[in-house]
Amino acid sequence: MHSSSEWLVFHKVPNLVPLIGHQKAKEKKVTKLNKKVALVTGGSRGIGAAIAKRLAADGASVAITYAKDANAASAVVEAIERDGGRAIAIQADAANVEAVKGAVEKVFATFGPLDVLVNNAGTAIPKAFEETTLEEMDRVIDINVRGVFVTTQAALKHMNDGGRIIMIGSAVGERVQVPGLVPYSATKGAVKIFTQALSRELGSRNITVNNVQPGPIDTDLNPAAGDWAVPQKAATALNRYGRVDDIASMVAFVAGPESSYITGANLTVDGGMNA
Ligand code: NDP
Repeated sequence: MHSSSEWLVFHKVPNLVPLIGHQKAKEKKVTKLNKKVALVTGGSRGIGAAIAKRLAADGASVAITYAKDANAASAVVEAIERDGGRAIAIQADAANVEAVKGAVEKVFATFGPLDVLVNNAGTAIPKAFEETTLEEMDRVIDINVRGVFVTTQAALKHMNDGGRIIMIGSAVGERVQVPGLVPYSATKGAVKIFTQALSRELGSRNITVNNVQPGPIDTDLNPAAGDWAVPQKAATALNRYGRVDDIASMVAFVAGPESSYITGANLTVDGGMNA
């Protein structure tokens, strides 16, 4: 278990940076997650990749999982290492229980006990509910709900007291503004109540459990260009899509030392979609 004194914060000294060189400058950056170990599921692209890079920049050793794209996963690891961080990528489909358990064991074997779990891996299959096949429903449930349950249970076996469990739910887990997302919205509603219920069991270990709920964020899953984006953009108060870093910032805050009294919360980052 890490003590709270280990949540170290260093402040940048701008005048010295040009004099002390690149490596020294790195040591002066904010490292709120120094000595912490984080696992980000689905961390090879989109929101998960931004979260992985941000947690690494804050000082954590970061493991990411991915399902298919090994090159994208390697690129995230290389980017983190280039910036002086520590990272590994593990192939583990969130729908495959044994793969998920194996991934958590590998993180533990490589970096030691976990401090932060980000359940980011998720998918949507947008189409009218009446046309949705059973196979499509099962896939969305298996990744977005069962995968979150299984990953969380496996991670809890190796999580330090005082840890952080963070879900990436969705603004449509609060209120659904557009058609075509029926099973997906239902899974994100499940993630929301899972968060609240789990927070009641883990308070005794001082582990917080929170659910970050993005609105429309420009990624491969939900590109900001095209017909599908128009009603989503219009449903926000800011009349625009968000960026992956908007979500990474909130996750970094919830993962860090300043959020220790926030648990069981659903934190919406949606440009006012639910206003
Ligand atoms: P992307 O499709 O852009 O990226 C998904 C990431 O998850 C990739 O790294 C992908 O890796 C990985 N992944 C996909 N399926 C699996 C799986 N079965 N097991 C493990 N990893 C997997 O998605 P986003 O970044 O947009 O979404 C991330 C999360 O944010 C999801 O939970 C989504 O529901 C949520 N969200 C997104 C919003 C948006 O507007 N973008 C809005 C609200 C919520 P690989 O390429 O190898 O498959």
